[in-house]
Amino acid sequence: MTKEIVGILGGTFNPIHAGHLRAAEETLRHLNLSKILLVPSSVPVLKTKGIGKDFIAPAKDRAHWVELATRNNPRFQLCRIELQREGPSYTVDTLRTLSLQLKPSKLMFIIGSDAFRNFDSWYQPDEILSMANFAVLARPPEILKSLRNILPAKFHSVCKFSKSESSARHQSGNVINLIEISGLEISSTDIRRRLSQGYSVRGLLPDLIREAIESSGYFSEAAL
Ligand code: ATP
Ligand code: MG
Repeated sequence: MTKEIVGILGGTFNPIHAGHLRAAEETLRHLNLSKILLVPSSVPVLKTKGIGKDFIAPAKDRAHWVELATRNNPRFQLCRIELQREGPSYTVDTLRTLSLQLKPSKLMFIIGSDAFRNFDSWYQPDEILSMANFAVLARPPEILKSLRNILPAKFHSVCKFSKSESSARHQSGNVINLIEISGLEISSTDIRRRLSQGYSVRGLLPDLIREAIESSGYFSEAAL
């Protein structure tokens, strides 16, 4: 029997939006994943708390929005692992725990091209590459045919590109796959900016989440 593959999509999800959901949906189909765990980070390592568009909502709200967004899809699941752990969230710790919990399934770490470009600045990136296969999504408006341009230079000596350069094999044996998705050009930053300026965010995220955010007053400059 072939092993099940579980996708892991980490993020701040501040808030989760249709771009995340579309990317997850496409990756699930392309790679025939059995499910995707959406993993909100607790204290974002590379971000700070702020006000208005820079505000980072409490973890319990960000997780609740993920829960609302995944409630009707049995293949998408909120995973609270990073919220239950003290201190900042490190992907390496998350993957270590999940690989034990989900044994014998294989892990597929899902990451957008914007984040993957800076992957070398993450905590223990070599370890991370050794712990999971990767699905790298070309995040719209970017169109990518080759991994070579976005795989940080320090990993070129430990990865072997396929002929088409749409995948690469890390020295651990794990594979990094470039996935072409018909994604949506939506970002949480843009949603927060719109909310802080009083513009509509209809259609950019599920209505239930939009309503929850609008009634919380989060990201709204008027509420400051
Ligand atoms: P922010 O603007 O606050 O950084 P974001 O929209 O980039 O938010 P994150 O929570 O930072 O969302 O992203 C989590 C993961 O989802 C990252 O790997 C990111 O590249 C990916 N991602 C986010 N939005 C999209 C999108 N529209 N299409 C494809 N991937 C996306
Ligand atoms: Mg981001």
